[in-house]
Amino acid sequence: MKAGRKLELVEKALDRLSPLETACTLCPRECRVDRTKGAEGVCRTGRLASVSHALLHFGEEPVVSGESGSGTIFFTGCNLKCLFCQNYQLSWLLEGEPATDEELAVMMLGLQAKGAHNINFVSPSHVVLPILRALRIALAGGLDIPLVWNSNGYDSLEVVRALEGVVDIYLPDLKYHSPSISKRYSAAADYFARASEAVREMSLQQPALDLGPGGTARKGLVVRHLILPGSVGDTIVILKWIGENLSPFIGLSLMSQYHPCFKAPEEIRRSVSAEEYRRAADEALALGLDRLFLQPEPFRPDERLVPDFRKEKPFRWK
Ligand code: SF4
Repeated sequence: MKAGRKLELVEKALDRLSPLETACTLCPRECRVDRTKGAEGVCRTGRLASVSHALLHFGEEPVVSGESGSGTIFFTGCNLKCLFCQNYQLSWLLEGEPATDEELAVMMLGLQAKGAHNINFVSPSHVVLPILRALRIALAGGLDIPLVWNSNGYDSLEVVRALEGVVDIYLPDLKYHSPSISKRYSAAADYFARASEAVREMSLQQPALDLGPGGTARKGLVVRHLILPGSVGDTIVILKWIGENLSPFIGLSLMSQYHPCFKAPEEIRRSVSAEEYRRAADEALALGLDRLFLQPEPFRPDERLVPDFRKEKPFRWK
């Protein structure tokens, strides 16, 4: 899509979503706090975004990271705050620096100049407005690589509808089906109700994963699901739902990398077992989706997959 057209859609999205900021309903939490006056909502974020790192990331799915890396911006704060979050330094501890819209735009353009295949917004749900305002500047400044919405899936349907034509690649989690599990681990009993309608809308907007010459995505949807220890039954329900409700031409990333972090309760202070993994993988394979990304069987926790955002290079990839 031409930058001029995308700029128009960014303006439209800003017109539609900006009024939601003063009694915030920008995500399913619907805290109704005034974001222009403070950071009192669940995401503990005010008007500006706060950023931990902006870097080339080589650990995303191959269609996202490609050879040159995904231009990833890690925001602090989160609207979900999972007890086991491996990015807890950002989501819970808010370790980052506020960034003006101009600074955010400079980060995007800097990542593009470094050869990034895309701009990958990690935990964008609560900072959709700073992202859109920064995009207005960055697109006018020559940003023309695909935009990736890398969210926890707990997105508002209204926001996802407003992002049509702005976001090229949706990369949401679909974490839980059971309200009791999502309530226990993420304090969101309505997680599946809200995430499923958001992800369904993403599938309508981007029903087919479209790969460029080097095999990196130009547009599409890749749904991520992290298998949790003891919850493989919930995983199976989610996979069946994906098969029945989303386009068959999307990507599915089934992740075995769960590692107990931060405040993970006792019953999930272990890795996923090989048996749990195989049950989930068999179900995912049976869906017959166009693109399935499987992680290796979790014989032992892979420490390389747990980032440390207190370091200049949080990942141990390359
Ligand atoms: S974006 Fe933040 S303040 Fe707004 S509803 Fe969600 S959690 Fe609450």
